[in-house]
Amino acid sequence: MTTLPRISFEFFPPQTLDASFRLWETVQALAPMQPNFVSVTYGAGGTTRKLTHEAVSAIGRNYGLNVAAHLTCVDATRTETLEIAEAYAAAGVTEIVALRGDAPKGATRFTPHPDGFASSVELVEALAATGKFKIRVGAYPEPHPDAADSFADVAWLKRKIDAGATSAITQFFFDADTFFRFRDACAKAGITAPIIPGILPITSWEGAKKFAARCGTKVPGKLDEAFTTAARDGREELLALAQCTALCDRLLQGGVDDLHFYTLNRPHLTREVVRALGITPELVLEKVA
Ligand code: FAD
Repeated sequence: MTTLPRISFEFFPPQTLDASFRLWETVQALAPMQPNFVSVTYGAGGTTRKLTHEAVSAIGRNYGLNVAAHLTCVDATRTETLEIAEAYAAAGVTEIVALRGDAPKGATRFTPHPDGFASSVELVEALAATGKFKIRVGAYPEPHPDAADSFADVAWLKRKIDAGATSAITQFFFDADTFFRFRDACAKAGITAPIIPGILPITSWEGAKKFAARCGTKVPGKLDEAFTTAARDGREELLALAQCTALCDRLLQGGVDDLHFYTLNRPHLTREVVRALGITPELVLEKVA
């Protein structure tokens, strides 16, 4: 490894008092690692509209971090969605992770609101037209459940970039080659915008497998065996640190400059991985005293 990567962290907005403490503990632990940006998710079906806004504003205000707000098209009119974006602009937020979103609970597929944005491309176009935001989008190295074929995700990402997005963050994956193949296919399709790998530090192997099954991420048999053995020996944490550091290292060796960590508001493993990659915390005396 030669140069240090730029890093970023994803958080989710808290829904309970206990979860609020966990978010602050997470931000407190990770802010000194000097992330390029952090992002705050938007609950499925737009369920955390207000909480996301509050978390984004508070993190920006209290930690001076560059915060990107996630925004989806689910269950909202175009006017409502753009009002949310305008409120972000008014609060000084300049980055949005623009997504279509998933089907609401109980539904099997995404159905646009009759007066809403029908796709992520439409949302990106409308946000770009405001001229107020740097727009990031999602990308899928392994076929998204809605992809028509294996090339569909690349073609659709190209449409999102052409509509005004300036970078993409991928769904998590376990094999660096999966990312490299996707990156090469994107380059071949004429996508020049940065594609940032999304990294999931494994704080619970059973949880990671469930998450992977939902989003179509392949679970290598060897990794499953390794976690099963490690769990038996009480060494899951050690394996998770080794696995995640090795994955990041391979990505960096393969020319990746940015890594985006899905922290799940659990900071410790992410922090250990980032430190293992050579990034040391910046300790500002007034902040730690
Ligand atoms: P899109 O890229 O629009 O669609 C996904 C795929 O479906 C495309 O690649 C394409 O193959 C196919 N597709 C979709 N529409 C069309 C079309 N009209 N024509 C042809 N093909 C099409 N969800 C949340 O609810 N809140 C969040 O905060 C959140 N954050 C996320 C952050 C990241 C980095 C990622 C990768 C995902 C996130 N998600 C979030 C999940 C996301 O909402 C789901 O994966 C959703 O199903 C797709 O949203 P998208 O904008 O990435 O999809």
